[in-house]
Amino acid sequence: MLVVQKFGGTSVGDLQRIQNVANRVSATKKDGHDVVVVVSAMSGETNKLVAYAEHFSVNPAKAEMDMLLSAGERVTASLLAIALSEMGFDSVAMTGRKAGIVTDSDHTKARIENINPQNMQDAIKMGKIVVVAGFQGVNDNGDVTTLGRGGSDLSAVAIAGALKADLCEIYTDVSGIYTTDPRIEPKAKKLDRISYDEMLELASLGAKVLQNRSVEMAKKLNVNLVTRSSFSNEEGTLITKEENIMEAPLVSGIALDKNQARISLMGVKDRPGIASDIFNKLADAGVNVDMIIQNKAHDETTNIDFTVPVSDLHDAKAVVDGFVTRGEVKADSYNKDICKVSVVGVGMKSHVGVAAKAFSAMAQKNININMISTSEIKISMVIDEEYAELAVRSLHAIYELDK
Ligand code: ADP
Ligand code: ASP
Ligand code: MG
Repeated sequence: MLVVQKFGGTSVGDLQRIQNVANRVSATKKDGHDVVVVVSAMSGETNKLVAYAEHFSVNPAKAEMDMLLSAGERVTASLLAIALSEMGFDSVAMTGRKAGIVTDSDHTKARIENINPQNMQDAIKMGKIVVVAGFQGVNDNGDVTTLGRGGSDLSAVAIAGALKADLCEIYTDVSGIYTTDPRIEPKAKKLDRISYDEMLELASLGAKVLQNRSVEMAKKLNVNLVTRSSFSNEEGTLITKEENIMEAPLVSGIALDKNQARISLMGVKDRPGIASDIFNKLADAGVNVDMIIQNKAHDETTNIDFTVPVSDLHDAKAVVDGFVTRGEVKADSYNKDICKVSVVGVGMKSHVGVAAKAFSAMAQKNININMISTSEIKISMVIDEEYAELAVRSLHAIYELDK
C-alpha cells in the first residue's frame, strides 16, 4: 500500500514531537508500506514569520511573503528526514518544487495547476521515505508560491491524488472531525464518517481542522481521506462520498469563523450597474466577498453591507475608498468585531424548520443576528464576535449534537 501521511504544526511542534512522527512513519514503513510524508511548519512558526514581515510593512509584497513563509516547512521536512536516516530508514526531504508541485502565480494563495511526481516516484522505487515540505509550490517562473494558510493539507491531498495513493492520513491534534470545535464545546462528538460536501462546507465556514481546498481536491480526485490524532492510536474520521454514509444526520456540525470583517457602504448612488462596478472591482483585486445585504435609504441612495475575510480587508478598503473619492459612495465603515456561525448538514435538503431552529437558538440567548445566508446544506449567521462561543454552544445544544 502507498500511504500519504501529513503532520500538522502541533504534531511537529518541537524536536521530541518530530521524533515521535519519525517513529510513527517508520512503523508504517516497517509494516511494508510505501510512505510519503507531508509536513507543516512547527506550530507558531508561520505566524512568527508573518509577524517579522509586519514589523517592516503593513502590506509586504506577496512574492516575498511566499519566499519567507515557505521556509518554515523546509525546516521540518529536513529535520524529519535527518531523524529517519538516523533510525536507519533511507529518506529524502523535498521542497514543493522538487516534489513537482506547479502552481499559478497567485502568491500567498496559489492554486496547484499540476504535479509532476517523477522525483517522488523515483525515490519511492528506491525504497526511500519521501518527506515533502507542505504548503508550497513553484510557478512557471521558478518563484516559490504558497497555497494559503493551512495549505499543507492541500499539498498532502494533491500528492495523494498524483501518486494514486491508497490512503491519505491527516494527523493533527484532535482525533478526527467533531460536531464542532472541541475547544469551544467539550461535549462535541467525534464523527466516524462525514461526506465530502459537508466537510467542504464546514472547512469553508471556518472549521480549520482541514483546509477547504484540500477537501475540494479530495472530492474531485476521490482521495480516501482520514483525519486522526498524532498523539493517540484512536481511529479517526473518514471523509467520503455521501452514498457511503448510512442515514445522514439532519445536522452534522457547527462551524465558527472569526476571521470575517463587515464593510458598510452608506449613500451608494442608486443607478443600474453600481453593484456590478463595486463587486467586479473587488473581484479584480482578489477580494473574496461572502454575504451581501442591500437596503434602500430614504434619499434615492442605497446602503450595501458585505463581509470579507479579514486578510482581504486591506485590499477591499483600497477599492471601496476609490468609490468614496469619486463620489459614488458617501461613506464607508469597517467592523472586524463580528463572526460567522454556521450550521451544516445534508439532511437539511429534505427537512423544513432547520433554519427556524437556528434563529430560536440565537433568540433564547438574546443574540442579535446581523446577516443571514443559506444554501441547500447550510445556514450562516453573522453576529457580534463577543457572542461567538455562546452561539456555537447554543446551536450545538438545540440540534442535540451532544446526544
Ligand atoms: P494542524 O496544525 O494539524 O493542521 P489545525 O490547528 O489546522 O491543525 O486544525 C486542528 C484544529 O481544528 C483543532 O485543534 C480544533 O481546535 C480545530 N477544529 C475546528 N473545528 C473542528 C471540528 N469540527 N473538528 C475537529 N477540530 C476542529
Ligand atoms: N504552516 C502553514 C500555516 O500555518 C501551512 C500549514 O500549516 O498547513 O498556515
Ligand atoms: Mg491545519
